[in-house]
Amino acid sequence: MRKRGTKYGIATCPLCFENGILVIVQRPNGTLFLLCNECKWAFDDPMKIVHADDGYCGADIIETPASLEQISAAGWSQHVVHHLNL
Ligand SMILES: [Zn+2]
Repeated sequence: MRKRGTKYGIATCPLCFENGILVIVQRPNGTLFLLCNECKWAFDDPMKIVHADDGYCGADIIETPASLEQISAAGWSQHVVHHLNL
């Protein structure tokens, strides 16, 4: 079972270099994307987080942390490298 408030992290952010990129659900259609917890830079694909230019500003996005089940359904579970219990 997932603890309430757990956020799953994917990678180091190429913009701010913090280990802060988290998997987020984008409502209302449930699409998953990735958002840096530190600088709010967003990415659509965990395979394409290399340069800051690969992302876009996600400051206006209403973020909902993705569950591990949702991450697995998207085929991204192998990219998860850490989690935060907030
Ligand atoms: Zn960042």
